[in-house]
Amino acid sequence: MSVLEIRDLHVSVGEGDDAKEILRGVDLTVRSGETHAIMGPNGSGKSTLAYSIAGHPKYTITGGTVTLDGEDVLAMTVDERARAGLFLAMQYPVEVPGVSVSNFLRTAATAVKGEAPKLRTWVKDVKTEMAGLEMDPAFAERNVNEGFSGGEKKRHEILQMRLLKPRIAILDETDSGLDVDALRVVSEGVNKSREDSDVGVLLITHYTRILRYIRPDFVHVFVNGRIAEEGGPELAEKLEDEGYAAYVKDSNEQA
Ligand code: ADP
Ligand code: MG
Ligand code: MG
Repeated sequence: MSVLEIRDLHVSVGEGDDAKEILRGVDLTVRSGETHAIMGPNGSGKSTLAYSIAGHPKYTITGGTVTLDGEDVLAMTVDERARAGLFLAMQYPVEVPGVSVSNFLRTAATAVKGEAPKLRTWVKDVKTEMAGLEMDPAFAERNVNEGFSGGEKKRHEILQMRLLKPRIAILDETDSGLDVDALRVVSEGVNKSREDSDVGVLLITHYTRILRYIRPDFVHVFVNGRIAEEGGPELAEKLEDEGYAAYVKDSNEQA
């Protein structure tokens, strides 16, 4: 049982006079086996939340705490966060010249587990998971992210999650740029991890579409750098009908 706790998190980007507060006091708890959807309009700070937990150097934590099973995540290096069981797809570089998917995955698994996975079982595991994600075996020999389509990038992201078996996975805009087939396959991968490794999921999205495939236990509406409303899956249905306008208006009136 793991628990990621975010308490009154404040985050800024930019320096000196250009510094701008993006996250304005975020409180959120994600436990093993729970799926939380964070939904909100573009520019509300959803990716900033993901990047801040990932330890991206562009984001300055100006207040609050993030802990995983009581350990201070914000004091950890990016590698330590991964070893602690946090999975953040975007912590990995956009393109890794000359490194195949297969080698990349093995290096990542070695970094997370502290030792290289046994070659024989590893090759089998990679094959099994790729087949589950309906990926061509030849994909393993391609260079990471070189010429990947949107769908291939997302499948690669979920493949990493399947193989690294994190305690808590943060998936940002997993549905963007996916056709319905890719969306189904990616969602099945996430759902499989929910079943077989009880992963806690923080699913960040602008659209309600993916929530038809990955049913969240909790939905949080994110507006102007903080959570404006919380509820169960029915809240996603309400958002699909009504959009974010009412929450944005309330938030602007409070500001
Ligand atoms: P979302 O993912 O909800 O669309 P973001 O977290 O990407 O929102 O962005 C929130 C706000 O922070 C936006 O106004 C964006 O322009 C700003 N922002 C995010 N990252 C940076 C950055 N690295 N430098 C400057 N501004 C940024
Ligand atoms: Mg505050
Ligand atoms: Mg975003």
